[in-house]
Order: sequence, then C-alpha cells, then structure tokens
Amino acid sequence: MAKQEFSIPALMNAVPTEAAAYELLEGLRWESGIVCPHCESVAPHYFLKPANGTTRKTRTGSVSQRRVWKCRDCRKQFSVLTGTIFHGTKIEIRTWLFVIFEMCASKNGVSAREIERKYDLTAKTAWFLLHRIREAMKREPLAGLLSGTIVADETFIGGKPGNRPKGKRPVWGHLAEKTAVLSLVSRDTGEVRSQIVPDVTGATLAKVIHDHVAVQDATLNTDEWRGYIAVGKEFAAHKTVNHSEDQYISKGATTNEAEGYFSQLKRSLDGTQHHVSVEHLPRYLAEHDFRYSTREMDDSERLRRLIDTTGARRLTYRPLIGR
Ligand SMILES: [Zn+2]
Repeated sequence: MAKQEFSIPALMNAVPTEAAAYELLEGLRWESGIVCPHCESVAPHYFLKPANGTTRKTRTGSVSQRRVWKCRDCRKQFSVLTGTIFHGTKIEIRTWLFVIFEMCASKNGVSAREIERKYDLTAKTAWFLLHRIREAMKREPLAGLLSGTIVADETFIGGKPGNRPKGKRPVWGHLAEKTAVLSLVSRDTGEVRSQIVPDVTGATLAKVIHDHVAVQDATLNTDEWRGYIAVGKEFAAHKTVNHSEDQYISKGATTNEAEGYFSQLKRSLDGTQHHVSVEHLPRYLAEHDFRYSTREMDDSERLRRLIDTTGARRLTYRPLIGR
C-alpha cells in the first residue's frame, strides 16, 4: 500500500511542537490562501504575532503559540481557530490533530473514555472534544439533492432493557420507545444521509425523502414496508425487496447498502459508545454518515475533508448539554 500522508508516526514528525501544529492546521485550512473568518476576504493579511514567530506571552502571563493575523480588508484580528470547532479551546492543537486522525482512521468510532485515557484529559474535556469533531462531520446544511438510485431504509435504535442491573443501562436504553432512524443511501455517489424520524408512517417518510432526493428522476429501492408505497409512486421507478422471504435481491433491487450502514452504526453504538442519549444521537449519525460517505477515501483524504469543514461550525458546551 502507498504510504499515507497522515499516520500516527507522520503526525508525530509533522507536529513536534504546538507551533508546528498551528502551522500544519493553517496549511490544511488555508491551502489556497489565508481566509479572514470575519469577512471571508482572501488576501495577504498581516501577520501580527508572535513577533518571534513561535511563542508569546498572553495577558495572563502564560505562553501561547497561537498565531494571530489582521485582516487587510475588515481590519479585524483572527487566528486559524477563529469561528471554528477549535474556537476558544484550551486543549493543545497537537492533541486535536491526533484525535481527529483517530476519528478519521477508525471504523467504529472512538469513545470518550478511550480519548480521556490516551490523551490524559478529563472525562468532560474528552467528551466535548469528540462532539466538536462530530459537529464538523455534519453534512453541509445546503447540500444538494441526491439523485440516481436511492436506497431508503429505517431502523430502530435503543438498548434492550435486558438483564443489566439498574443504573447500568445505557442512557438510550431508558427510552420507552425505540428511536426511529431513516437512512438514504445514494448508490451512485455512496453518500448516506441519516436522521431521526418521529415515526415511519408514509407522510413522515415522504417528507424526509422530498427534503433530500430529486424524486422524479430517481429510482427508489426499499423493502416492502407500506410507508414507502405512496412516495415510491413519485419516483421514476420503485423497486422493492421482500425481506420476510429472505429475498434480499429481487429484480436488481437491494437494500444491502442500508443494511451494512445500520449494522456498523449499531456495532459502534453497542460496542464503542455506551451512553448515547437521543439528544446527542444526531451527532453520532453525522459521524457515521461521514464515515460511510467517505469510505472510498484513505485516512489522510478523510482527515483533509474533515479539516475543510471545521470552519463556521462552532459548538459551545452550554447548548450541547442543554443549558
Ligand atoms: Zn476580514
């Protein structure tokens, strides 16, 4: 296999210091020029500090490697962190880069517990760090419609109360009802989009499908759930698979992509994440959509793709914990 641009040893070499981590992040985010996060102007902005190029003392007297620029157009100051998921972070950028790499390189995701131990962070810091990275994994709000052949399938997420002792159940296992998730997979591009749905009635499925798919030119593949019948008629074609007869491929129709996606999602929620509450589930879905949609990329391409969407995705701790 070709040597990857990014790997743990490559990162260790590339970012021996915090200053080097800033420079690597600047190189990745501003590949085609330094962009002012306030006015989006791309210009040779003024480099302000640190004056010696590597470190400076902050107001509180601590040492900072944060590199600050001044916009040539709007005159405001910024760094590569301004307005991004990194904004205001107290965690080293080196640590961020390693954790982002781990998120991009793992098949089933990484748990906050694991990151807490490996990077010597507090539990709260590790948890928040991972959620900020998941925020960057969300698809663009104005992403275009899916077209071609679309596989639609729904699943129900929720732990079985089972025989676990009281208080040991996963948070999502406490839900009285399981949470329904609808996934739409484009067989043409490999992109998947998943979201929580209140139910799997025809009206609900149709609304979500219309939000994401250019239906009149597309082909729909589903199982025989009746909720898809009405919306299926709006598609150029609707092919169904009869799961009850173990007939997973019928007349060229399969829902295998969605089955594969769901099994990976459940493996991660069961095996890696143990406390996923319904309010945070959308961010886990975003993570899995990102991972599935970029599965043809290598880890380095996936990391570059993620860094590209770290801008304008600020997530603060307060709204995250619902206060
Ligand atoms: Zn500006």
